[in-house]
Amino acid sequence: MPEHCAAFSCSNRRTIASRARGITFHKFPKDKDVRKKWEVALRREGFHASDTSVLCSHHFNQGDFDRTGQIVRLRDGVIPSVFSFPVHLQRVGVSS
Ligand SMILES: [Zn+2]
Repeated sequence: MPEHCAAFSCSNRRTIASRARGITFHKFPKDKDVRKKWEVALRREGFHASDTSVLCSHHFNQGDFDRTGQIVRLRDGVIPSVFSFPVHLQRVGVSS
């Protein structure tokens, strides 16, 4: 089963085509606190990441990646920050 990016309005999937375009997919962190920050960053109501949830590389800044190894990794503690939200979700700051 292809893996879908969990971000709002993002339709990237893990396919040969997306790989060719340089898109990488990253699982949600195992660390509960960091995972919670990712979930908040997504701003998807009622969304809870599972162990198979992934985000694609579009939602991170270039500096968030560690490209020194064979595979592209995210640096520890990185929070996704690049999203295209609908207007009503574009306010800065998260109230919960
Ligand atoms: Zn995505």
